[in-house]
Amino acid sequence: MIRDYQSQKELLELYDVCIVGGGPAGITLALRLAGNGWRVALVEGGGHEYSARSQALYQSTSSGLNAYVDAMRLRFLGGTSNHWTGRCRPFERSDFAMPTAGGLPGWPIAFSEIEHYLAQAMDILDLPAKSDFKAINEALPGGDFDADRFLLSPPTRFAQKYDQALRDTEGLDVFINCNCVDLDFASETGEIAAVVVSDYDLRRGNIKARHYVLAAGAIENARQLLNSESLLAAGVTSQDGITGSCFMEHLNIDIGTFILAGDLGTSRRQYFTTDAFIEKHQVGKGNMTFSLLAEVKSYGRTAAIKDFFKNIACEIGVADKVDFIAKFNCPGDGLISTLIEQVPNQKSRVSLLDERDGLGVRKANLHWELSPEDRKTIKTLGLEVAKRFSEAGLGFVKLHENIYDIDLPLEVNPHAHHMGTTRMAETAEYGVVDKNCKVFGVDNLYVAGSSIFATGGACNPTMPILQLALRLADHLDERMKV
Ligand SMILES: Cc1cc2nc3c(=O)[nH]c(=O)nc-3n(C[C@H](O)[C@H](O)[C@H](O)COP(=O)(O)OP(=O)(O)OC[C@H]3O[C@@H](n4cnc5c(N)ncnc54)[C@H](O)[C@@H]3O)c2cc1C
Repeated sequence: MIRDYQSQKELLELYDVCIVGGGPAGITLALRLAGNGWRVALVEGGGHEYSARSQALYQSTSSGLNAYVDAMRLRFLGGTSNHWTGRCRPFERSDFAMPTAGGLPGWPIAFSEIEHYLAQAMDILDLPAKSDFKAINEALPGGDFDADRFLLSPPTRFAQKYDQALRDTEGLDVFINCNCVDLDFASETGEIAAVVVSDYDLRRGNIKARHYVLAAGAIENARQLLNSESLLAAGVTSQDGITGSCFMEHLNIDIGTFILAGDLGTSRRQYFTTDAFIEKHQVGKGNMTFSLLAEVKSYGRTAAIKDFFKNIACEIGVADKVDFIAKFNCPGDGLISTLIEQVPNQKSRVSLLDERDGLGVRKANLHWELSPEDRKTIKTLGLEVAKRFSEAGLGFVKLHENIYDIDLPLEVNPHAHHMGTTRMAETAEYGVVDKNCKVFGVDNLYVAGSSIFATGGACNPTMPILQLALRLADHLDERMKV
């Protein structure tokens, strides 16, 4: 049943599981657990549609690089799946086997732990069963760059696809306009006693459950943990500790241009680093996309030269034009963009400001940095892919100077893949959640979503988020049966 908390507060009861956040992670988990017969409350801050009053609660500040996080997330039922693109590429076995370049430990679980859930996650994302992740081009010769392999989800909009299931599934109560504003930790039991929720008129209530899951996205999961005074007082979290740290994005960098030597056959080519390449260079993984510019014939060098000769006879200022042609920075036939892994870096972090949002929750600041390891990754991937592309006779690459000169400033764009702020680790020294996604130091609080990623690989995060959410559902199922 979907209930509007703004008008129906008296309906709160005791649940087996209370999940905060109705995006892909929260909806997947809620339907699976309720389908297994458990009483589940799904707490969603927004309503059925976008609203300015809900979206305003995502307002945050940014220091360091700008990840534009406010614009990248949607705060209503279905979450950011309401405008995601649908590109799906799974994690690789090596993502779970290689040490991180930055010195922090990688995933504490084996790849097989999530591989097992791939088919189910693909089904949720409307990807054809047993379909192979396809390549749209050949690998580059030399063994360093494979063709990238991916599938495109329609893209699945979770609130629309699961509308009926969210209304009809026995045992599931979905509360919309119901904002988590506090986590009430009882130090005598070592458990969360209640999730404190609020409507938009600041009327608060408690939702009580045996187990709680934060599934509010990577910025908000960390924000909720850091906002809870009772968790801070008990020493479970601290404002400058591991909680909120290791924020990772996939780096979207314009690394240069290329001129074709022949016919690419397609409008774009996508390459992906091989494991051998990563081991050889000790850098992060990456996708490099070579995209043809549609307007090249009128915008590039040819157009400028044609224009020059057309006008030379009837215009003065020839010297200026010659100078212009000599210095003309040809954009080439295409651009090279990236989706590059960042190493987990404790300096990139979500922390809280003293200022509060309209419901009294402390606002977040995101400090996002490029580490020296990231600059090395960008440089290595840029130089090596350029070399291999031209060796293959496909064309000539002109890398931007700031790719190989790491002292020059670099413009970095985000991919809207927020990861790592409550990372999974073997021990509390290196992470916020354990192998079962349970918060260290709290017996009944779990986290779902890409905030638990120990490393981000260079794969799109949503399908792995679902794999891990399904795995968490199995764990909670087992735990609650005991
Ligand atoms: C433009 C764009 C394109 C993208 N394309 C891709 C792609 O091609 N492939 C891919 O894999 N990923 C893509 N992503 C990323 C993808 O959208 C996310 O990985 C995914 O939505 C994360 O799911 P989630 O459930 O963890 O979080 P979200 O989708 O962010 O959901 C979080 C939910 O929690 C709710 N919430 C937040 N705070 C509270 C609170 N205090 N109380 C109650 N509820 C709360 C929100 O309203 C929301 O419904 C894209 C993102 C963007 C912005």
